[in-house]
Amino acid sequence: MHADILDEAAEREQQLIAVALANRPAPSMVYTGECHYCEEKISKGHFCSGECRTDHERMVWAEKQRRLM
Ligand SMILES: [Zn+2]
Repeated sequence: MHADILDEAAEREQQLIAVALANRPAPSMVYTGECHYCEEKISKGHFCSGECRTDHERMVWAEKQRRLM
């Protein structure tokens, strides 16, 4: 019975780790000289426009949902 309690605690910990990993911030993006979404040349930042930023975020989010399923 004691072992069961330990197993439950370990299982709970694994769940917490999985949640923490799922919620961790995306790795910081590096400047490539191109928009991360449409690959248009840009002189600074990661996106050529706010729209590309939003679309990219949506794409990343959808990708994450797919991986969690
Ligand atoms: Zn773009």
